[in-house]
Amino acid sequence: MRVNQAFRFELDPNALQRRALAQHVGAARFAWNWALVLCLKALEEGKKLPTAAELHKAWNLWKRENAPWWTEVSKCAPQEAIRDLERAFKAWRKGKARLPRFKRKKLTLDNKARLTGSVRVFPRHVQLPRIGKVRSKEPTEKLLRLLEEGKARVLSATVSREADRWYVSLSCEVERPEPKPRGVRSEGDVVGIDLGLSSFAVLSDGTRIEAPKPLAKKLRLLKRRSKQLSRKEKGSNNGKKAALRLARLHRKVKNLRQDFLHKLTTELAKTKPVIVVEDLNVKGLARGRLSRSVADVGWGAFRRMLTYKAEWYGATLIVAPKSFPSTRLCSRCGHLQGKMPLSQRVFRCEACGLELDRDLNAALNLRAYGLAHLTGPTGSSPGSDACGDPSGGGTAPYGGRSTSYGSWKQEVARGLHSLGE
Ligand SMILES: [Zn+2]
Repeated sequence: MRVNQAFRFELDPNALQRRALAQHVGAARFAWNWALVLCLKALEEGKKLPTAAELHKAWNLWKRENAPWWTEVSKCAPQEAIRDLERAFKAWRKGKARLPRFKRKKLTLDNKARLTGSVRVFPRHVQLPRIGKVRSKEPTEKLLRLLEEGKARVLSATVSREADRWYVSLSCEVERPEPKPRGVRSEGDVVGIDLGLSSFAVLSDGTRIEAPKPLAKKLRLLKRRSKQLSRKEKGSNNGKKAALRLARLHRKVKNLRQDFLHKLTTELAKTKPVIVVEDLNVKGLARGRLSRSVADVGWGAFRRMLTYKAEWYGATLIVAPKSFPSTRLCSRCGHLQGKMPLSQRVFRCEACGLELDRDLNAALNLRAYGLAHLTGPTGSSPGSDACGDPSGGGTAPYGGRSTSYGSWKQEVARGLHSLGE
């Protein structure tokens, strides 16, 4: 089985390489913003969005006229940024993401550039196009062995700056052993997962999964420091120091979170033959009061990881559509209740009197959905529904309202306005 897998290493670049890395990241950001202006203007004027190919053509013309010095940077950095922008707009159209925003020159996690072309891996070194052979702070042997045995192929390299450190993530096509198909032997092999608010997740078998304590602690600190920084004078020495400190904290939080999500999704995919989750309306969730907590805990990343790991380990992932009222159904008698405000932590059934933790009740409903799905008319190919119900709509999860594109005009106007800052 061939799968895409990323290998990430922290780099130890010399001064010259640092400069080249910064140039590429800067070029990617510039091209993204440049193309985003064209896209937003097209939207505002009610025109069709330009495709990546059209944008790229326009970019080459503009570059020749306005910035001939750009030959120092590999042309793939802006090219790939424009492709990413096209993807970001497609995701927005489908309601899976927010409207693409301008990238700012700051020390947070948004600074990256993708490089295609010849990428080679050596012991403790990675060779990147235009940048050269950069020392890695981490061992590269595992990937090197796969490459030498012909079990992996590097597709692209993404370099990124997080605070004062540089990283490279090598996207590879890797040959993995074919997973053993895991049939459902008992109902216990099917588990529903509700992504909760008081806990990170609740499983239908009653297991509660909490985000690790150090992560929660760092997140609180992050909030406090962000506030402090916004009070500091921009450009002052103290302000700069605080900005770097904040960026370092962002990096730590990100690493802790990735670690937690990787461990959790691997464990689930390895031990649960059938996993049922709810389709996330990230756009709707991010808009509401919950936006911070949703972004904090990384539900989107959880879903992405779970999807590919289920494939790696031969688990079946079933996604209940957004219209499935997992929080409002009684998991014992099936009675459908009215709205459940978020503050209501216990589900109380008006019909049979069941009293159960809200998240556990939802997890049990998801499990029931999965069981019905496996034995129902579409049961022959449970894996094919992994994308959920494309029609979506209806009741959004967690009592949020499903969003429409009604306000995108405001978003576009705000986006264009923020450019002038
Ligand atoms: Zn009931």
